[in-house]
Amino acid sequence: MKVTVVGTSCTWFKRNNTSFIIDDDIVFDTPDGAYKDIINYIDIFKIRCIIITHFHTDHFTDLHIFTTQILRHGKDRKEKLRVYGPKGILDKLIELNKLHVNADDECSKEEVLKAVDFIEVYDGMEFDEGKYHIKSFKMEHGKPETFGFTFCERDSGVVVGFSSDTAPCENLNKIIVSSNYAFVDFASMKKHDKHMFIEPFEKLLRDYSKTKIYPVHTSDENQKYAIEHGFNYLNDGDILNF
Ligand SMILES: [Zn+2]
Ligand SMILES: [Zn+2]
Repeated sequence: MKVTVVGTSCTWFKRNNTSFIIDDDIVFDTPDGAYKDIINYIDIFKIRCIIITHFHTDHFTDLHIFTTQILRHGKDRKEKLRVYGPKGILDKLIELNKLHVNADDECSKEEVLKAVDFIEVYDGMEFDEGKYHIKSFKMEHGKPETFGFTFCERDSGVVVGFSSDTAPCENLNKIIVSSNYAFVDFASMKKHDKHMFIEPFEKLLRDYSKTKIYPVHTSDENQKYAIEHGFNYLNDGDILNF
């Protein structure tokens, strides 16, 4: 599996918002600003699917740019784009389209559905995309329903986990224990009820030492802490091959 780390941070910092590209054709979260970066890495008309973890702006608000481009210019595609996300994903996309003045013609559900299939995710859902068997896990992130995922490459058996935004929870442990590599929220220095912070993050590193854990969605302070404490920290633009 090739993972392109488009961003490593969250709303308030210079580094990009956290998102990933898997094997050049699966996009994992489309935060505000991500489209302009992602088009530097891949041909967006070759995207097979987009996975949206939750409806916070630093995770999904560029989604309408991908779908509008594919609707307008992706006529040669053999398959529709598939967008996975929490319940209500289609309506959220239509709301974004309405805010995007140049998308007037493509606003309606009927138009969008010509180019895109929407799949609502639930806790424990399993599905296949390309060479991966993917499982979803409901995370602990306050009001917006939020999902983490594991990707199991069927041929090699390698499993890569993505926590998205979450406080410590049993499903986060499940993702990590079943993954060889895991990208995990490390947003906060202090105790937080919606994000990971120092003590539980360091406990994960101790308890699951067989899993290579990468802190992502980091504040600048957390990134500094990760660097100083020898965590497997990442920078925007890193490309990992598992
Ligand atoms: Zn969030
Ligand atoms: Zn976030």
